[in-house]
Amino acid sequence: MDALIKTQAFINGGWHTAKTGKSFAVSNPADGKKITDMTDCDASDTTAAIDAAYAALFTWKSALPTVRAAALRAWQKKIEENAETLARLLTHEQGKPITEARGEIAGGAAMLGWAAEEARRAYGETIPAFKTGTRVITTREAIGVVAAITPWNFPHSMITRKVAPALAAGCTVVLKPAEDTPLSALALAALAHEAGIPKGVFNVVPTSNPKAVARALTDDARVRKLSFTGSTEVGRLLMAQCAPNLKRLSLELGGNAPFIVFDDADLSAAVEGAMASKFRNAGQTCVCANRLYIQRGIYGRFIEALNNAVAGLKLGAGDQKGVTTGPLINHDGLQKVEDLVADALAKGASLTCGGRKSALGGTYYEPTIIRDATPAMRLASEEIFGPVAAIFPFDTEEDALKLANATEHGLAAYVYTRDLGRAFRMSTGLEYGMVGVNEALLASEAVPFGGIKQSGFGREGGPHSLDDYMAIKYTLFGGL
Ligand code: ADP
Repeated sequence: MDALIKTQAFINGGWHTAKTGKSFAVSNPADGKKITDMTDCDASDTTAAIDAAYAALFTWKSALPTVRAAALRAWQKKIEENAETLARLLTHEQGKPITEARGEIAGGAAMLGWAAEEARRAYGETIPAFKTGTRVITTREAIGVVAAITPWNFPHSMITRKVAPALAAGCTVVLKPAEDTPLSALALAALAHEAGIPKGVFNVVPTSNPKAVARALTDDARVRKLSFTGSTEVGRLLMAQCAPNLKRLSLELGGNAPFIVFDDADLSAAVEGAMASKFRNAGQTCVCANRLYIQRGIYGRFIEALNNAVAGLKLGAGDQKGVTTGPLINHDGLQKVEDLVADALAKGASLTCGGRKSALGGTYYEPTIIRDATPAMRLASEEIFGPVAAIFPFDTEEDALKLANATEHGLAAYVYTRDLGRAFRMSTGLEYGMVGVNEALLASEAVPFGGIKQSGFGREGGPHSLDDYMAIKYTLFGGL
């Protein structure tokens, strides 16, 4: 693992200490111990990275798509060869169980493979002429330098899902990873370098001061696009910062996913789905089931079955055998979960299990089920981001739809039913970017991931993934 632990910024194909010489600690959330000191970049380091990305842009975007595709495939291969090391590093800095970390690395590598394939299919069009003696063509061209800002909950795949399509399209990138998890980002940079990605094409600036680095990225007119994944609050801020020079934006922001189970559902499939959706990554994903709406006829049985499944979870350090649920990322995260649970209990919900910090200490929180939740509780409108399943009863299909849509967010929603008509009515009626019908795990390199409403816009992955990094150019040829 040590060979892939990098503690400097990766700029213009080389490793650099921040100009101020300052550093910050990166710690393992499983035991709170410091893993390493990390160089702490500021605005001037960021500008150096933009200089490098801008200088590399013309050659990279002018290269044949097959050349970019080959570079991405070489990077993918390096990731696959180092998958176990990357997974261990990821678990070390982020806390998730090693099996989940392995899945995330595989997903990241797959995204590079997908983008490499798509690089060759950035087709343009010919349009029938509208004037005699002319021809009309459209081409799709790389937007330019892209800034990427990513969160800590998927420190590997949130990067590859932005950088892979950006590079495939011919853009160059400056990435600011989350301050809790810069190691996975820098390990990716090291492998990109080994794979022969040219200098300046992919740059990484770790920092404990996201505001300063983000400001340098948003204020620089050479940066033509910002791709951000994180909270709605910060997304709004960044959108405003990008307004003065009209940067293109992709924003993948907070979710508040409803998970709806009708009386006619396959109960065991619904429970299995709820477990995967709610408790994966200790509940710290933006597509996590945040509100479980269970129809009255199945309410008691669902809670009992979920309770039995939750009893089988094992809390602990992600690299230990049999552990299904790791620690929360930090003390702020833990505090938020405690506050939301206290609020729900004060407003009349009751606990089926859990509901407190774990005896393991640190940032471990016991897997928890809260029943009889109501819309007045904070957890109905705020992302819990912890291993807490909040269960709300409902009566009719109409009620379920109304409750599910009563949020400013619109990222992912889930429905369990065996009634085909209802499945279609619900998938149409749910105001979300992604809907799982009798399925709880939605992410793949092959599908468009993203939201609507205050969950943002832009799609990552799938057949349209390069569009977010390309502009259409129309050329009129006259005098023919
Ligand atoms: P989360 O709740 O997932 O931590 P954040 O939106 O706080 O969501 O963080 C996601 C990313 O946004 C991280 O890389 C973080 O460093 C960055 N970030 C946080 N605050 C700001 C800010 N004011 N300006 C720019 N980036 C920020």
